Amino acid sequence: MKITFVTSNEHKAREAAGILHGRAEVKQVSMDIPELRADLVTDVAAGKAAYAYSVLKRPVITDDTGLFIPALNGFPGTCAAYVQKTIGNSGILSLLAGHANRSAWFETGIAYHDQHCQMTFSGKISGKIVLPRGEGGFGYDPIFEVNGRTLGEMTEMEKNQISHRAIGFHALRDWLDERT
Ligand code: IMP
Repeated sequence: MKITFVTSNEHKAREAAGILHGRAEVKQVSMDIPELRADLVTDVAAGKAAYAYSVLKRPVITDDTGLFIPALNGFPGTCAAYVQKTIGNSGILSLLAGHANRSAWFETGIAYHDQHCQMTFSGKISGKIVLPRGEGGFGYDPIFEVNGRTLGEMTEMEKNQISHRAIGFHALRDWLDERT
C-alpha cells in the first residue's frame, strides 16, 4: 500500500520509510496544516491527519512531537516547535539554570487516517537536558542526552533505533501487519 507522510522534515520521512519498508511505500508531501492546540501529542497529530486526509483523500500519516520537562512543569510540551523557534535550546538551558532535576522526555504522536478509520500511536524516550553536544540530528537533539550521549552525538541510524518516533512508527507498523 501507499501512505503519504505529510511532513516537511526529511529526517522523519526517511525514518518512517525505513521502518515501514515492506509494509507500505511512504511518500513525503509538505503541506501547511493548521495546528490544533492540545495537551496530547496524539490529539495534535490526529487533527493534522484529519485535515490532510480532507485535502488529499488518500491514506495519510502525520506526527507531532512534544518535549516534556518535569522541572518546568512539563513545559514546553506540545508547544515544542514554537519554543524551539523562539527561545531555542539556549532558552531552555536558561530556564533550567539552578534546577537539579534535568530529566525530560520526548513523546511523538502518530496518526494514520484513511477512508475507513483513524488510528493514533505514540512513543516516548526519556533522557536529560545537558549543555549542547554533537553536530547530528535536529531541534533539541544536541541538548537531549540518553545513556551518556546526546541524540546529536548519535548517527541517524543509532538515533532511529531508540527514538520516540521510531517506537511510535513500530506501533503503526505492527497495526498495519495485523490489519493485512
Ligand atoms: P514536530 O512536532 O515534529 O514539529 O516537533 C516539535 C519540535 O520538536 C520541533 O521544534 C522539532 O525540531 C523538535 N523535535 C521533534 N522531533 C525531535 C527529535 O527527534 N529530536 C529533537 N528535536 C525534535
